[in-house]
Amino acid sequence: LEAEVRRREKLAAVGNLAAGVAHEIRNPLSSIRGYAAYFGGKFAPGSDDRQAAEIMVREVDRLNRVISELIEFARPSDLERRPVRLSDLAGHAARLIRPDALASGVSIELDKADDDPEVLADPDRMAQAVLNLCLNAVQAMEAGGVMGLRVGLVPDGRAFLEVTDTGVGIDPAERDRLFDPYYTTKSRGTGLGLPIAHKIVAAHGGEIRLTVRPQGGTSAMVVLPMDGVGDTNDAEEDDAGERSRS
Ligand code: ADP
Repeated sequence: LEAEVRRREKLAAVGNLAAGVAHEIRNPLSSIRGYAAYFGGKFAPGSDDRQAAEIMVREVDRLNRVISELIEFARPSDLERRPVRLSDLAGHAARLIRPDALASGVSIELDKADDDPEVLADPDRMAQAVLNLCLNAVQAMEAGGVMGLRVGLVPDGRAFLEVTDTGVGIDPAERDRLFDPYYTTKSRGTGLGLPIAHKIVAAHGGEIRLTVRPQGGTSAMVVLPMDGVGDTNDAEEDDAGERSRS
């Protein structure tokens, strides 16, 4: 127990450090972004100079995203749980992902379920996990497609929230590797989306099942205990075992 407490304190320290450093980096980044946009505006749209400035803005946005993900990954899994209806979580994720989906020609289908379970969960952290799965779904459909969100109960009585896509699909032999930190097949990926989602879901006592859909594309299913039981700080220990192979 003492070791566990020490480990938790150490993780919290790392999280604080990451958050502190991130703050110091974000402020200058924000100035850089602002001035790059300002100078870019002085050149004609489509000109080389304008495009250079636009690249600067985009790259700053990317740096900001990488920093956010690093903080999220280093953060200890302290949860503030309250009753959360899964359809609300799905609806929230759908609203957040809509701009990305529109930009990629992806339509979103929210399935009305017979069972709409309520779980004890930290709504903010869980929204982050579901959003990461949605981002992956949209990014797997560069030429457009359909992203589905569905909630319900699995046969053993646990609750699920499933994100489906009609995208490139995953190689079942690669599935476990996809959860490794920094593993990415995208030119601009961070490889932290799934590890973060896994960490959050594992802290809730749940699991993420990645499967190939028979009709093509991928299903990412978050399965959660109904009573919300599950040690809130076991995410790291669970990393090897919890990952579903179904
Ligand atoms: P990133 O999105 O930055 O690459 P992730 O950890 O979220 O990081 O994902 C790791 C890898 O898993 C992706 O690069 C991709 O190859 C694969 N992957 C995840 N979700 C999907 C999906 N829905 N369809 C196809 N491949 C996926």
